[in-house]
Amino acid sequence: MDKTGFLGEQVEELQAGGLYNTIRHIEGPQGSWLMVDGQRVLNFCSNNYLGLANHPRLIEAAKTALDRYGVGPGAVRTIAGTMTIHDELEAKLAAFKGVEAAISLQSGFVANTGVIPALVDQEDVIITDALNHASIIDGVRLAKAGRKIYAHADVSDLRDKLGEARADGARRILIITDGVFSMDGDIAPLDRIADTADEFEAMVMVDDAHGEGVLGRGGRGIVDYFGLHGRIEIEVGTMSKAFGVMGGYVAGSRAMIDWLQQRARPFLFSSAVTPPDVAACIASVEILQDSTELVDRLWANSRLFKAMMSSAGFDIGRSETPITPVMLGDERVAREFSRRLFDEEAVFAQAIAYPTVQLGTARIRVMISAAHSEDDLKYGTAAFVKIGKDLGVV
Ligand code: PMP
Repeated sequence: MDKTGFLGEQVEELQAGGLYNTIRHIEGPQGSWLMVDGQRVLNFCSNNYLGLANHPRLIEAAKTALDRYGVGPGAVRTIAGTMTIHDELEAKLAAFKGVEAAISLQSGFVANTGVIPALVDQEDVIITDALNHASIIDGVRLAKAGRKIYAHADVSDLRDKLGEARADGARRILIITDGVFSMDGDIAPLDRIADTADEFEAMVMVDDAHGEGVLGRGGRGIVDYFGLHGRIEIEVGTMSKAFGVMGGYVAGSRAMIDWLQQRARPFLFSSAVTPPDVAACIASVEILQDSTELVDRLWANSRLFKAMMSSAGFDIGRSETPITPVMLGDERVAREFSRRLFDEEAVFAQAIAYPTVQLGTARIRVMISAAHSEDDLKYGTAAFVKIGKDLGVV
């Protein structure tokens, strides 16, 4: 009896609709050029904003930790998995973010699903941006609190929802927003969100996954970018993007971190991040603390690439950050464009389509990195122009 045959049919439906995502395989280290499926290609799609994923200082730190602590953490953090390097990373992150304390978790996704249900309960209400990341959506689903969704980055809609929540007698209110929205590269109006939150005595949580290492002084993130230190209660972050490694964290008050150590379920029931990963994360934070060079180069590269793509006639959406969505609309066009960039021009730039973004808003999302050279960016732009002309997009 074939009980899973329906899944094959569902996959076929995806293929027929141009919605099937072909996963590529990377055969070596991260960098501006990669070996992918046997071909050397320009890397336009990793989140390795600062080029740290293959940085010698991180590799060395991981090797040293490997010798000192071994490969595995052995247990969940609360039982026997907390090593001294976890404490060291948390102290480094708290100092970097300018907050009292931080808690290290296994990933940014896990951090969102762990922190949200731990902070609010039945008597409370969560108000969340319509375009928040999937991990926030899942964290909200896991919480017992009521939910309201406000229109993307729309502070006046947020205000209406806050008014409704207060009128309904909510005990506590938690506003949640991405800092930088990962599919469009726009920045949340966190300054206005914080002002509005104060009026309604609501807590604010920001997911800074695409803001840290990118926004603010030396990449300190969105809170620093807007000068909102002390006004945003919960900052969630990931170590897997600009920091170049793996892992997640929550940063904020000592009391909140104490509570999360007692009640955040992934901290209690899932094993800790491995020692070499933690050591690499520490080295990564130190690199950002030492110099703004990589962050500055990232922004210079982004400005150059965006200017070249705009003047070539591409619609690069509403991005305010190095995330550069090349808007194409149709799912099939986006996938075809991406395939031809790869096959004909050796450019690895992934199409992003439904369900990651809304139907009809398919795009190729180019992720600019400090690791790119000017020649890389010129080469990539020329490839886009060539395929874009062939497909009648520009
Ligand atoms: N939040 C946002 C906004 C993200 O873009 C991502 C990664 N796609 C995550 C959280 C999850 O981070 P991680 O990869 O560390 O799980």
